[in-house]
Formats: sequence, structure tokens, C-alpha cells
Amino acid sequence: MVLSRELQVLDLKFVPFLDHSQILERISELGTSINQDFENKLPLFIPILNGAFIFAADLLKEICIPCEVSFVKVASYMGESTSGQVEEVLGLKTDIRGRHIILVEDIVDTGLTMSQLIKSFMPFQPASLSIATLFVKPDSVQVELPLTYVGFEIENKFIIGYGLDYNGQGRNFRDIYQKAD
Ligand code: 5GP
Repeated sequence: MVLSRELQVLDLKFVPFLDHSQILERISELGTSINQDFENKLPLFIPILNGAFIFAADLLKEICIPCEVSFVKVASYMGESTSGQVEEVLGLKTDIRGRHIILVEDIVDTGLTMSQLIKSFMPFQPASLSIATLFVKPDSVQVELPLTYVGFEIENKFIIGYGLDYNGQGRNFRDIYQKAD
């Protein structure tokens, strides 16, 4: 499949990085692992809005065991750099005590967002907590995290598309684009 060409989003140029079909292929593999690992455990998927909405939708289509889904939203990131602060966790209505939680994230960069989110969940004593993230930037991660289901390890460059935005734009692109050098 031929990727579309260079893109301009606001003041930045982006180049094609990963094609939609490669993403779906990898998500199918992640789904297979989760189906095996959580059979008879009724996992609760908690996708993190906004970025994870497309990944979560495609991942959940690969899940064929009984499960539940509850979206949350955190406010933490502006422009191209991480603030490292989770200002708020909005929307978790489900009781997570004793539940097998799978946090669904678009990308782990420093890991600080996930780490703070996990800290806020621990007092409610889930039975287990794992992370399914489409992307990780290993050179950027600063904290220990249960990154059990990782789609792609990528270099420390800014990407958009497939749910990931640059200042609110680019989430709708079906492929992933990387910031041009
Ligand atoms: P962390 O706290 O791990 O540094 O950052 C996590 C959040 O930062 C992600 O959920 C995502 O919203 C944002 N983020 C980190 N790296 C990127 C990137 O390369 N592109 C975009 N669009 N967002 C990113």
C-alpha cells in the first residue's frame, strides 16, 4: 500500500510513518494475547481519551471474551511536549475493586501520565492492572510501568494520526505520520 505524501499540520510538516494496515495487523496480535490472558476474568478496559479512541475501537473489535469498557479522560499534554501532570481523571463510573483492569493508551512517552493514573487507581484495589498501548518511546520512558501489551516501540519523535493529535488536529488520519526533521 502506498502511503499518502508529506502533510502540513498547522506550523509542522509530517512524513508518512506507519500504514493503517500494519497498525491493524499488530492490533490483531495484541487482541489474541489479551483474549488468552484474560479468559474467564471479565477484564475492564479503560481507554484514555482523547488519543486512544481509535485504537480502543479497533482493539475491542479483536476481543472475543466477555469484557466491559469504561472510558476516562485525563488532561495532561499540550503541543509537542509532555507536561507530566495528570490534572484530572474524568468519567470513571465503574467500581474497579477486584477487577482486572486494562488501561488502553495511544502512546507512552515519559510514562508520567500513566504512572499518575495508576497511582490514582491503586487505592481502589483492582485485582490486576495492565497497560495496552499502541506506541511506546523507550528512550523517553522515565518510570516503571506494566507495559504488557505494546503495539510498536518507536524512536523519540512526535507522531500524529490514528487518534493522535497535534494541537487538536490530525486525529482523523488513518495512517501515522512522524514530524519531519
Ligand atoms: P507521557 O505522560 O507518557 O509523557 O505522555 C502521554 C501522552 O502524551 C499521550 O497520551 C499523548 O496524548 C501525548 N503524547 C506523547 N507523545 C506523543 C506523540 O508523539 N504524539 C502525540 N500526538 N501525542 C503524544
